[in-house]
Amino acid sequence: MTDSDTADHHLAGQPCSPDSISADQNSAASSAGTSALRDELHALQVRGADPDSTPATKFLAYRDASYLALDLRDLKAGMEHALNCLLWARASGDARLQVKAHVTLALAMMESYDDAGARREFGAALTLAGAIADARGVALVAINVSHFELERRNYYQAAQPLLELLHSPSMRALLEPDAQKLWEIFHINFVVAASETLLADAASASGAGHPPEIERQLAASSALLAAKLEERHALSLLDTAALLDALTRHALWTGELPVARALADEHVQLTSTAEFPLLYGRALLDRSRVFARIGDLENAILDAGQAVGYFHEAASELWEARSREQLAAIYARAGRYREAYETQQEATQGVENLYRDYHQQRALVWQIAQQAREAEVRAEAMAEAALRDPLTGAPNRTRAMQVLAELHGRARQDRPSAVALLDLDLFKRVNDTFGHLVGDAVLTGVTHLLSAELREQDLLARLGGEEFIVILPDVTAQQAELVCIRLRDSLHSASWETLAPGLVTSGSFGVAVLDGGQDITGVLTNADQALYAAKAAGRNAVMVAAKQADIILSMQSCL
Ligand code: GH3
Ligand code: MG
Ligand code: MG
Repeated sequence: MTDSDTADHHLAGQPCSPDSISADQNSAASSAGTSALRDELHALQVRGADPDSTPATKFLAYRDASYLALDLRDLKAGMEHALNCLLWARASGDARLQVKAHVTLALAMMESYDDAGARREFGAALTLAGAIADARGVALVAINVSHFELERRNYYQAAQPLLELLHSPSMRALLEPDAQKLWEIFHINFVVAASETLLADAASASGAGHPPEIERQLAASSALLAAKLEERHALSLLDTAALLDALTRHALWTGELPVARALADEHVQLTSTAEFPLLYGRALLDRSRVFARIGDLENAILDAGQAVGYFHEAASELWEARSREQLAAIYARAGRYREAYETQQEATQGVENLYRDYHQQRALVWQIAQQAREAEVRAEAMAEAALRDPLTGAPNRTRAMQVLAELHGRARQDRPSAVALLDLDLFKRVNDTFGHLVGDAVLTGVTHLLSAELREQDLLARLGGEEFIVILPDVTAQQAELVCIRLRDSLHSASWETLAPGLVTSGSFGVAVLDGGQDITGVLTNADQALYAAKAAGRNAVMVAAKQADIILSMQSCL
């Protein structure tokens, strides 16, 4: 399965609308199904933790693991995997993966009711996608934001990002052949969001006028969905259910009640055989609404009552509370006020329980996010420390080797650089004369002195003892020689009066080119031979190695 397939698949399997397909469906799947999902989750975790996997592979594994954990209602694991997913997306250096990772994190936060966090992550994803002109990324964010708002039943807010997308150049990403699923979800989400917005407008006394464009696009999108439904034999159950759900709402808005009734019946029938009881509950709830609209309150009560039972059995407290509220409203319309009152009381009780649960869950998930952020900062600090020399604070040998490896890669593509080895002269005498502590201070002082002479892209690293390496990207041997002469002069003219009166320092330099012609060890051997020649020539000198061998091209002034 390719990267984008999985992302889009999740969107489809995940609810595209609050009342169509829910993430908690899977938790209500048969226990055999659940254990299969747990095995799959475990396999993904193993792949994510495999040290041999590339960052991009780890990103994928953790993202899929996050979605799977959320489907299994393991919010803690969902959050942890989403954070790992972002970490590896960053490590991959591919900004498009980071866009997707922010979306994953937003969905994990949404599931744990951290709405502020989810909006922040969606914002980060959108900014990044815009910055790198990733049209598909922009579309993916807009569609997921609409999904989030639908989950919260903010219908107008769910329609807005889709309308914005429609007018943006990023919309073209949905017309790509491999973006069909996204394109479909765009229209499904829009039909749900727009139908519900218009239905709410019509019901409200003030009749909040929404832009006429909503109606126009709704007509277009619903026609597309109707055509798609004609191919229902080729669609999965989940996809068909989502289409039926969206088109039912549209028919309620247009007032085509027999159409709404037929669609709702098909929805109930389709899902009654499904292994997902929650889908069936939602279909019943939708049909109950259609019955209520037609004025068939008896059937409306029957369907809503059955839905309550299914959600209760499936332990979906949110949907149980929602269906009780719907049932209470229908009882009231039917004049059965006592039942309405009791049902509403049960609904309120359920909502309070939910609220307590969410509160605890949010606290838990928030704690995980916090710990993960701290761990990330610690890990960065440790990684940073591992590349520095503790005495002088200069980059160490490990860091120097990393940089050399990078430059060697570039050198093989015809971008040579230069390196120089520096060994302080007669340093043993400094220690013997002024003491080891002064020697330490001189090493630190030399680091600062020489670093200040270099460009930002250059690197002065301490290899050990009184030996340093100077790495000069994109510099010829000739230029490097001049740089080293400057360093040598500045070292020799440095004043150590306050530290050790009378102390004079100097150093010997061996320069070599780093090109694609030899490996890093060969380059360092050349530089070392040039350094040896500088020592032999009397110290305080700069020598340049010939490319392949130990021919010394030039010799600068000696002590
Ligand atoms: P040369 O010009 O031939 O390089 O002479 P040298 O004395 O610098 O060379 P040698 O290799 O004989 O001695 C290096 C000295 O550097 C020995 C050691 O005392 C000193 N040294 C190495 N690391 C440190 C350190 O961390 N702190 C201090 N204070 N001295 C160090
Ligand atoms: Mg030495
Ligand atoms: Mg020395």
